Amino acid sequence: MRNSEVADQLDRIADLLELKGSDRYRVYAYQEAARAIRSLGRDIETIRQEGRLEEIQGVGPSIAAKIAEFLKTNHCAYLEQLEREVPVEAATLMQVPGLGPKRARLLAEKLKIKSVSELIRAAEDHRIQALPGMGEKSEQQLLKEARRYAARSSRIPLYLAWPQAEELATLLRDHPAVERIEPAGSIRRRKETIGDIDLLVASRDAQAVFDRMVRLPVVQEVILRGPTKCTILTRSQFQVDVRVIAPEEWGSALLYFTGSKAHNIRLRSLALAKGYTLSEYGIFRLDTGKRVASRTEAEIYETLGLTWIPPEIREDGGELEAAAGGTLPELVELEDLRGDFHTHTTYSDGRDSVETMARAAIARGYDWLVVSDHSFGLPVVGGLTKEKALQQRREIAILNRELAPFRILHGVELEIRGDGTLDFDDAFLAGFDVVGASLHSGTRRDGERNTRRILQALEDPEVDGLNHPTGRITGKRDAYDLDVDRVIEAARRLGKTLEIDGNERLDLPSELVRRARDRGSSFTLSSDAHGADQLSLIRYALAIARRGWLEKRHVLNVLDAQALTARRHPRKHGRP
Ligand SMILES: [Zn+2]
Ligand SMILES: [Zn+2]
Repeated sequence: MRNSEVADQLDRIADLLELKGSDRYRVYAYQEAARAIRSLGRDIETIRQEGRLEEIQGVGPSIAAKIAEFLKTNHCAYLEQLEREVPVEAATLMQVPGLGPKRARLLAEKLKIKSVSELIRAAEDHRIQALPGMGEKSEQQLLKEARRYAARSSRIPLYLAWPQAEELATLLRDHPAVERIEPAGSIRRRKETIGDIDLLVASRDAQAVFDRMVRLPVVQEVILRGPTKCTILTRSQFQVDVRVIAPEEWGSALLYFTGSKAHNIRLRSLALAKGYTLSEYGIFRLDTGKRVASRTEAEIYETLGLTWIPPEIREDGGELEAAAGGTLPELVELEDLRGDFHTHTTYSDGRDSVETMARAAIARGYDWLVVSDHSFGLPVVGGLTKEKALQQRREIAILNRELAPFRILHGVELEIRGDGTLDFDDAFLAGFDVVGASLHSGTRRDGERNTRRILQALEDPEVDGLNHPTGRITGKRDAYDLDVDRVIEAARRLGKTLEIDGNERLDLPSELVRRARDRGSSFTLSSDAHGADQLSLIRYALAIARRGWLEKRHVLNVLDAQALTARRHPRKHGRP
């Protein structure tokens, strides 16, 4: 039943009308209709099909038309128009529980508050209690709610959430009552940031699973425990929802709880169009109510005429059309990667020697490893001078004889200086196997300057690619000001690669990966490891690559060492 979904839409219309200052009667009409639909005993979709929407208390022809539109298309043009008309600020503030349209409008207009964090600051400075209709008590109440909202809406970076989910899954997996367990939600889609952690468990005995879980040492607090769902807080302050479902509903539940919401909405309307209904319990025929599939995701997609869609691209970004047309990308896999493009050793700020890094790479099954220490221009880390670089090259040559056929490729993370020049001249750079340029400092100035520094570095014939292109560190620091489209375009035109850095940065972001891919860019994936134990971080780079629809043909890590050096050599020998 979609009754509450429909009612929410109507309430949202009422709120926005009130925010706009519309007449009281219209606002009231939408609120009345929402209330009536919430308390209906029957499915609103059925009532629509019978053509009897207008028989619902408070629903006239105009509201009935909007309900029908929403049920059919999942959109409501009128609501979207309202959302464009009213001040965004006030609409944002209304996300805070207890803050209605009137007070939101007041805060936005009188105090110029644009965001929840500005709301918190205003309340802390006691600027709100002076407003008409407010007082010290309501200011304190608002502050409390706003702080709660802010804490809740802060998202966890994937590199923290995913290991935590895996740890819990591992601790529960061997329990006899657990048939299957898997992280779902945005972790399974490998989104760069996560809200709450979702774990899905197939079991016939939920209480036995919860009994084990609440006693795990990683659990700090049990927030809620019900018949099929248990919510806990871990010692590292992550909220985890564990849902137990029947084993035969594994596929439909996993599909449902993996999302994204937009992907699921599209799937559900596709199901309806084909004479089915789709829920977390399975896919059912509309006419007979008979369940057609529920055990695996693939069966459900197949019933809808689609091939199975990898979770990373379930974002309603064209994947359903591609699955229907048989043109889904064959996303790059971990096994496809033959090496890592960006790692550090004790020659700069790494913890391990070249040899230790190389042996760890061999243990991962790689054919090659790019060792790419910082050049000297990055202060603090004590990077490569020309002398140190040559010493490292000799060490690598000796190791390469010993470790053959494995190859250590001599790279450098080359500092882009303030004026866009580089730490080494072209003659010296020609001696490296891979040159990645990085912007680390002086980025607080204007975006035009950052962009020009990067473009100048990319123009250098000895530079192969751009490291961590936007400078963001997920969960810690935003991207610097940059004309990213000009950078992507220049890299493509010059045949330079863009890096996806898996070490906390998760940079490029996946939406930019997709954009650059569609414009013909090629990419390098890297762990940016500062120790042998960090080579595994390449899985985050891979996650972003897959979210960006990358296939083997877009990623240089699938090449062997010979192909990689051959790719560079023509440029070395004076290609235009
Ligand atoms: Zn760097
Ligand atoms: Zn680095």
